[in-house]
Amino acid sequence: MDLQYIPGIGPKRAEILQSELHVSSDEDLLTYFPYRYVDKSKIYTIREIDGTMPYILLKGCFTMFEEKGQGTGGHRLVGTFTDGTGTIDCVWFQGIKYVLNSVQRGKEYLLFGQPKEFNYSVNIAHPDLEIPAPDGKEVTGLMGMYNTTERMKRANLNSKTIQKIILGYLQKNPIAFPETLPSYVVDRLQLMGYNQAIRQIHFPANTDNLRKAQMRLKFEELFYLQLYLIRSFKMRQNSLKGYKFERIADYFNDYYRLLPFELTNAQKRVLREIRADVATGKQMNRLLQGDVGSGKTMVAALTMLMALDNGFQACLMAPTEILATQHYENLAESFLRIGINVALLTGSTPKKKREKIHELLENGELHILIGTHALIEPDVKFKNLGMVVIDEQHRFGVKQRSQLWLKNAQPPHVLVMTATPIPRTLAMTVYGDLDVSVIDELPPGRKPIETLHRYDNQRQGLIRAMRGQLELGRQIYVVYPLIEENEKLAYRDVEQGFLDMQAAFGPDYHVVMVHGKMKPKDKDAAMQRFVSNEAQIMVATTVIEVGVNVPNASVMIIESAERFGLSQLHQLRGRVGRGADQSYCVLVTKHQLGEDTKKRIEIMCRTTDGFEIAEADLKLRGPGDIEGTQQSGLAFDLHIASLAKDGHILELARNYAREIIENDPMLEAPQNAILRNRLAKLFSKKVDWSRIS
Ligand code: ADP
Ligand code: MG
Repeated sequence: MDLQYIPGIGPKRAEILQSELHVSSDEDLLTYFPYRYVDKSKIYTIREIDGTMPYILLKGCFTMFEEKGQGTGGHRLVGTFTDGTGTIDCVWFQGIKYVLNSVQRGKEYLLFGQPKEFNYSVNIAHPDLEIPAPDGKEVTGLMGMYNTTERMKRANLNSKTIQKIILGYLQKNPIAFPETLPSYVVDRLQLMGYNQAIRQIHFPANTDNLRKAQMRLKFEELFYLQLYLIRSFKMRQNSLKGYKFERIADYFNDYYRLLPFELTNAQKRVLREIRADVATGKQMNRLLQGDVGSGKTMVAALTMLMALDNGFQACLMAPTEILATQHYENLAESFLRIGINVALLTGSTPKKKREKIHELLENGELHILIGTHALIEPDVKFKNLGMVVIDEQHRFGVKQRSQLWLKNAQPPHVLVMTATPIPRTLAMTVYGDLDVSVIDELPPGRKPIETLHRYDNQRQGLIRAMRGQLELGRQIYVVYPLIEENEKLAYRDVEQGFLDMQAAFGPDYHVVMVHGKMKPKDKDAAMQRFVSNEAQIMVATTVIEVGVNVPNASVMIIESAERFGLSQLHQLRGRVGRGADQSYCVLVTKHQLGEDTKKRIEIMCRTTDGFEIAEADLKLRGPGDIEGTQQSGLAFDLHIASLAKDGHILELARNYAREIIENDPMLEAPQNAILRNRLAKLFSKKVDWSRIS
C-alpha cells in the first residue's frame, strides 16, 4: 500500500518518512520498530522523583504557568505541576502559545515525560499530556518509543504521532500481511505468527507477549540473513572448482623437520583443516583468526608448501612494506635451504630486480613471492598460482582481494589471516558460511603481559620504571594516538614525546621517532635502527600497530590511551610479550574519564585474551564499528536483532537455515516457496559480496 494513503500520513509526511527513514510502504512502516518501551502501568508520585529516572507517568494538575527568559533558547514557559506529594516544574521552549491555550490549570492530567536534573533542580521538558479516562483504563502496560529525526519532528512526526498512525493502521488491517515463515518452521519453534508479532511489538499487551514478539521477529531477521548467506556460499562452492592438492611431500616435510620448535596443538589443528580443504577439489576460502603472537606465520608458510608439493606457486601478501620485509626475512633463509626460490616484491623493489622477478614468476622458476599490494599489479603474472595467503586482512579492501583471484583462470585457494579476532557471532554473520579457523593457544613459555593504568601526572614514577627496564637491556615503545581532527597537534605530541625521551634517557640510550608523515625511506630507517637495537626507545604514532616483531621490546607505553578503541589497544599491546622476558603495557590517561573509557581500560588491565576483548568491544561499540567488518561489509541492516546480544538466536537461525538448504538447496519444495519469494524480495538489491570476501 502506498504510504501517503495511510491515515495520518499524506504526501508531505510520506516524502519525509521516505527520505529520513527509507520507509516507503505500509510494511516498511510496520517494521519500523520501537527502540525501547516505557512502562505506563505505574503512576509515580512526585516525591519519588530524582534526576536519574527514565520516562515516567505522573497524575496531577498544573497550579500555575509563567513565561520566563528572552530570545531564542532563553524564552520558555514554566508550568508548576502537583500531585499532592510535591511539585515539579515542566518546561516548554516551543509551542508556548498552544500550551497556554489548551492546557487548563486545576484540571487533572496524565503527564508523561523524563525528569532531568537542571540547575540543581529536577524538571520535565516538553511532557506529553493526556486527560485520564474516568475509569483509568488507558493506563495499561508498555508503550513503544520510536526514534525520530529533527526533520520528522518539525513535521510533527514525533514518537507519539508514529504510534497513533500505526495503531490506526492496525485497527483497520488486523491481518495486513501474509505469514513470512513456512508453517513448519513456525510450528516447530512455536513462534508467534507474523501479524500478531507485528501488533505485539508495537503494542505489547504484557512483557511476556513482547518477549515472544521480539523473539519471533529477531529469529526471522537472522534466519533470512543466514539463509541468504548459506545459499550464496553453496552456489559459489558448486560453481567454483579449486585445485586439488593430493600430496604432502618433501617441501612440507623438510620444512617441518627444520622448525626450531614444536607446533602448538592449535597450529596443528588449523593445518589439518586447511589440508582437508585443499584435498577436496573445491576452492578454499578460509579465514584464520589468531591472536597477536599466536604463530600464524608458520601456518602460512606450511600452507604455501602444500601448494609447492603439488607443483603450484604460492604468494604471501602483507599490508605494509615493513611487514612484508619481515616475513621475507623470517622465511627466506629456511626456504632457500630446502631449495625453494623465494623473492620479495614491494613498491620500492628496483625496476631491474622487479623485471627479473616477473620473468622468473612467469616461467615458474620462482616458487614463492612475498610482498605488499605490489603483488596485485597487473604485470605480476604467475605461471600457476595455487595458494594465496593474505596477512592482516583488515588492511585490504574486498576489491584488492578479488584482484588476486583474477590472476588465474581457476581461482587459487585463499587463506586470509587476521589478528583482529571477530567474535563468533559476528564472524558467522559477516562471513556467512565461509570457513573460519581459530588458533586459540599461544606458543608455550609466554609470560602474560602485565598491563597497568597510570595517570598523566604519575610520569616521574614511569620514567624510573622505564630506566629500570632499559638497564635490563630491554627496548621500549612509546605510542601516541593519531588525532584525525587535528593532525598538527598529534605530530606536536609525538615530537614533544621524542624530545622528552631524549632529555630523560640521552645520551645513555638512543631514541627514534616514527610517524605517518615521514617519508617511507626515513620511516624504515628508523624502524631498522630499533629492530637492530641501535635505538632502545621508539616514539611513534600507530604506524607500528600491525605485525612488527621485535622480541627484545618488552615495554609498550600508550599515551592518551583514552583515545584508542579496545581492539587497537589490544593490537598495540601485542607488539610486546614476544620474547621470554616479562613484558609490560602501560596505559597513560588523563584524570577525567568517561564511563566507556573506564570500562575499556579496566578490560585491558584484566585480560589479554583477544576474543574476550573483541566480545567486549562488540558490546561497547556495536558491530558496525568493529574493525575489519566495514570492508567485508555487513551488506544489510539489522532492524531488531543485535549481533552483540542475540548470539543464541543467531545460532538457532543458522542451524535451521543450514538444515533447510541441505535438504532443498534451490528451495524448490512447495513448502519452501515462501522462503524463495521472501529471499528474492529481501535481497534483490544486494551484491553477492560473499563471493569476494
Ligand atoms: P602472529 O600470529 O602474530 O603473526 P607470529 O607468527 O609472528 O605471530 O609468531 C610470533 C612468534 O612466535 C614468532 O617469533 C614465532 O617464531 C614464534 N612461534 C610461532 N609458533 C611457535 C611455536 N609453536 N612455539 C614457539 N614459538 C612459536
Ligand atoms: Mg603476523
